[in-house]
Amino acid sequence: AQKCFMIQDQTKFLNAFITLADREWLEKQVDDAQWAPKSARQKHVGELVAVKDNICTADLPTTAASAFLKDFTSPYDATVVRQLRDAGCIIVGKTNMDEFGMGSHSTNSHFQPVTIDTGRGNGMSPGGSSGGSAVAVATGALGTDTGGSVRLPAAYTRTVGFKPSYGLLSRWGVIAYANSLDTVGIFAKEGDTLRQEDNAVDHVRKLFDLLNEHDPQDPTSLPPSTRKRLGTSKPKRLRVGIPLEYNVATLNVDIKRAWIKALRLLKTKGHTLHPVSLPATKHALSAYYILAPAEASSNLAKYDGVRYGSRSEGPDGTPSSVLFAKTRGQFFGPEVQRRILLGAFSLSADAISNYFIQAQKVRRLVKQDFDNVFASPNPLSTKERKRNEKGVDILLCPTAPTMAPSLNRLRTGEKEGTPTDAYTNDVFTVPSSLAGLPAINIPINRAPKDTRTRRGTFAKRHKFESEKIGMQIIGQYGDDKLVLDVAEELM
Ligand code: GLN
Repeated sequence: AQKCFMIQDQTKFLNAFITLADREWLEKQVDDAQWAPKSARQKHVGELVAVKDNICTADLPTTAASAFLKDFTSPYDATVVRQLRDAGCIIVGKTNMDEFGMGSHSTNSHFQPVTIDTGRGNGMSPGGSSGGSAVAVATGALGTDTGGSVRLPAAYTRTVGFKPSYGLLSRWGVIAYANSLDTVGIFAKEGDTLRQEDNAVDHVRKLFDLLNEHDPQDPTSLPPSTRKRLGTSKPKRLRVGIPLEYNVATLNVDIKRAWIKALRLLKTKGHTLHPVSLPATKHALSAYYILAPAEASSNLAKYDGVRYGSRSEGPDGTPSSVLFAKTRGQFFGPEVQRRILLGAFSLSADAISNYFIQAQKVRRLVKQDFDNVFASPNPLSTKERKRNEKGVDILLCPTAPTMAPSLNRLRTGEKEGTPTDAYTNDVFTVPSSLAGLPAINIPINRAPKDTRTRRGTFAKRHKFESEKIGMQIIGQYGDDKLVLDVAEELM
């Protein structure tokens, strides 16, 4: 319990939590758990889990980091929370995030930004939108990933972050951002202080196995009959795909080196490497930023101060249109307002065929691209399902094109600080989101610099080499287990 409080205190300073569980309650839970019999059902008894604040809990408020929901406590637990509790997990608190999941640096929060402490007083971006979960993770943490919100923070904080195939984990009780993309994801950290018996990927796997269940309350939850068709087992010699379009001009050189190093490592283990082309990747980011705001503008329509959420002050009898506009102007943050405007525009009669419909077409092309390169057929495809022997088993690429920027730089808005700059961080994560594929971020050791350019003292070099870079493994729909297996082999 002491260690748990230590982590709570540290992360409080980093603003990782919006709400912390009550100390006395927590202490009692942790003590009780020590004496509880480990029955078969309660496999995770006493395990501490942090939950992103857009996932409903009946005992703690759920704000989605929005002023609109600052006083909201859900009457029920989300299915994923119930599953955790049924297995004996203890929810330690609700983590900070970008409002409604919209952002890439966890700076768009009504409760102030999350930071990574560098020990030098200059905070770095923890990534977003699940930045609080990534910073708080000591054992396990839940986040949500719509276009990269678990993988990007995992890359920036050097943790493991897994986004399962769409439809495997229940979304019931998860505050919707963009329904067709929203996925609950899992964080774990290597070498943490509270859990020694398994590695981070293994820990993610255990939580994933626990949550991977059909939920009749979520209409998009994959039915048991389809679940039976999923998954290929790991072949002895993997065919690893290198997506050529991910080698963009703006790719940071250290990230590129780490990518090459990871590919070499797989080769030395007897796997084969295959360059592949995913031509629609170029348009995936633009399509995502049409589709996600469009869905968001519809989802957020219910926050008007009457049906849901906080309400602006005003005299009785104020016309509802005036009240709605005032309330929404007051309680939604600037990024959320921007998304609502963008979404409402792209769905409007004049714009829909040029924007929304085009973006849906791009989404289909992105899916097709993946289906063309994977060896295993897409289990959701209605076409004849045949294995493509020339295809690849998994894809390996970076999670983000650049390293975590400093919060100062984001704040001044000069470099990397504009909304569109934040959008471009998602360039490598949105394609698999659009296709609903499983993808994981793992921290990979940096490759040592070329000896000709290597300068500096041993200490500097040592620090340099100890830093890690986020790599992403993407699999065919339903190949979640394979993705986790490969992650484990690479770490
Ligand atoms: N940065 C992306 C966005 O703002 C991804 C967010 C997410 O996955 N929740 O839309």
